[in-house]
Amino acid sequence: MKVAVFSAKRYDRDLLVAANAQAGHELVFLDASLEPSTAALCRGFGAACVFVNDHVDAQVLAELAADGTRLVALRCTGFNNVDLKAAAHFGIKVVRVTEYSPYSVAEHAVALILALNRKIHRAYNRTRDGNFELDGLLGSDLHGRTVGVIGTGRIGRVFAGIMGGFGCELLGHDRFPNPEFERIGGRYVPLRELAARSDIVSLHCPLTPETHYLVDAEALALAKPGAILINTSRGGLVDTEAAIAALKSGQLGALGLDVYEQESDLFFQDLSGAIIPDDVIQRLVSFPNVIVTGHQAFFTREAISTICATTIESITAFAEGRPLLHEVHAHT
Ligand code: NAD
Repeated sequence: MKVAVFSAKRYDRDLLVAANAQAGHELVFLDASLEPSTAALCRGFGAACVFVNDHVDAQVLAELAADGTRLVALRCTGFNNVDLKAAAHFGIKVVRVTEYSPYSVAEHAVALILALNRKIHRAYNRTRDGNFELDGLLGSDLHGRTVGVIGTGRIGRVFAGIMGGFGCELLGHDRFPNPEFERIGGRYVPLRELAARSDIVSLHCPLTPETHYLVDAEALALAKPGAILINTSRGGLVDTEAAIAALKSGQLGALGLDVYEQESDLFFQDLSGAIIPDDVIQRLVSFPNVIVTGHQAFFTREAISTICATTIESITAFAEGRPLLHEVHAHT
């Protein structure tokens, strides 16, 4: 099958080519992201393979359908960037990678907490400059802290297990509580209680209309003063302007972001020589108690190998007319 691979980086090429060795699909790698202005590049391709910041909206899907593309294969778990109703309308199947190493993202969330709490990012810069002063680097024991986990699915539960190992109290909130979270010592509480009692809040729920700006000015006002907020899920969960206001007032003690609501204009590119027009991200990275990583939480060898293998398996199943185990439906 001919597959147009959008937003392709070197690691995508290397690992997708390896995963495709047996299947033998014709993969064409494109630097461009999929959006209305690039949808025509799909002409003649049965499948489009996309990533987190490709815009697979109704306009793009209409053009794909008109040009004969019948499958959109996401190289990620989240599917908030695909208009599933429009895909169903145009008869285009959508598959994603339902599961890959949850340790990759959970461990990255923990890395952000450890770095922010013990100011490792600041210490790194200081010692490189011959500054061995401790003033300003005071942290807190994680042992005995309360950690709120919003979304106790695969990643949230692994994250909770690690934080439980540090001796943290675990509070959880989920639309569908899972006994496994309670088995590892967690306790489900209403969102307001989680916000008010947690020293650290980590977001692990998907971005949906319901969760958009889940963390807004009101939620931040409810938080424990000085709390640490971690978002490795999707940028739209946090109202970034409200988070900046809370950082400025000291209500928010630290912020670790691997995702950002306007990330599609920035992430996965080297803009180090450019003037970045986004004042919000520039303000964020100027805080000493903020760490931003560029959507790298998934980026472990284990996770990306599974992502590539599952993507190729789904494309093969589609080409052979077999059931799609990782299909995303409009009601998912
Ligand atoms: P999952 O489906 O296993 O878990 C998500 C959990 O969120 C479920 O338990 C679900 O019931 C819960 N949830 C849904 N709506 C909710 C709501 N309104 N309030 C509270 N909980 C709600 O998914 P997962 O594999 O654990 O992934 C979680 C998220 O992590 C994904 O949606 C994706 O956005 C993000 N992610 C980020 C990266 C990265 O590199 N930064 C990589 C993979 C996934």
